Amino acid sequence: MARIDLVDLAQSYGGPDADPESFALKPISMTWRQGGAYALLGPSGCGKTTLLNLISGIVAPTRGKILFDDVDITQRSTQQRNIAQVFQFPVIYDTMTVGENLAFPLKNRGVARPEIERRVAEIAGLLDLTPWLNRKATRLTADAKQKISLGRGLVRADVAAVLFDEPLTVIDPALKWELRSKLKALHHQLDLTMIYVTHDQTEALTFADTVVVMHDGRVVQSGTPQQLFDRPEHTFVGYFIGSPGMNIVPAEVDGRAAVVGGHTIALQRSYDRLPPGAKIEVGVRPEFVEVAAPAPGLLSANIERIDDLGRVRFARVRIGDVKFAARVPQGFSIPGSEAGLIFDPSRVHIYADSRLVEGTA
Ligand code: ATP
Repeated sequence: MARIDLVDLAQSYGGPDADPESFALKPISMTWRQGGAYALLGPSGCGKTTLLNLISGIVAPTRGKILFDDVDITQRSTQQRNIAQVFQFPVIYDTMTVGENLAFPLKNRGVARPEIERRVAEIAGLLDLTPWLNRKATRLTADAKQKISLGRGLVRADVAAVLFDEPLTVIDPALKWELRSKLKALHHQLDLTMIYVTHDQTEALTFADTVVVMHDGRVVQSGTPQQLFDRPEHTFVGYFIGSPGMNIVPAEVDGRAAVVGGHTIALQRSYDRLPPGAKIEVGVRPEFVEVAAPAPGLLSANIERIDDLGRVRFARVRIGDVKFAARVPQGFSIPGSEAGLIFDPSRVHIYADSRLVEGTA
């Protein structure tokens, strides 16, 4: 295992002289802690696989350096980096047994036989593959084959990191949850540095201790699931994480008041020095805005529909032209098409050009 440092790392598939805005990965510097469980989360095309392939050495960076435990490995091959990578689709040998497949990465590295047997038994046990160890891998289901791929990725104890690139894509939805929980448990038992690429927030939030959110070739925030939920540092994080995502609406902000669609929302902090000319927005998660009966002093909204998600209901409303989502309290019956909205001021955030602004107390 290793601590991984990226130093001013950037990747341009169009060469070093291409427009910096077209880089698949804009310059980033960050550290991946030894033994950490990370998810790299973002929509298709944001640069997740590029970043993963830079770490494993499949892609050479246009700029910058990669250090494993302070050693510069930027010029080293994938093999020399000692990384295990699990891909979207199973990479296994059909002619070998399940056990031989699991043993292969160890055999390849000249690990002694008793150690191979011990390790294969351990990983097979953890992944429920023990009954299959002597079966040929051919004719197994896609699920079972991908489990073997996961096992091959996890079987070596000496790797710098294990990288997963959307490894559950081919897995049956009912099994996804189980495998994800298993991977998390394995992380604790095996003490490996794991980086897990996905565009699915549920996968990221259930697997990782730290979620690294990417947008348009940049890391926009890195934090625990709770931090990403409570305090999105970029409007993209607010919108991408949560279901429904954060309300992000244009506003005029003056001191401790924000005006949205002609209505005023009180703020807990004061915003006196917003950058001139910046696009100012209010961000508040639907969980922290409550629908109430219309009343003087409450921001009034038109109800368009109610989404009943079973454990919770969200009202889709309009404040003037602005669309908004708000929580419907349990047992509350909607009085008509008009409602009042109650904001939790401590949960209302202000963004300037998509970046969170710290107010003053
Ligand atoms: P996905 O989830 O769809 O795999 P991603 O977030 O992993 O997306 P990347 O595959 O890293 O994103 O792609 C980032 C950008 O780089 C995209 O615009 C993509 O088209 C481009 N790109 C990726 N690989 C290459 C390549 N080999 N040559 C040219 N452009 C590429």
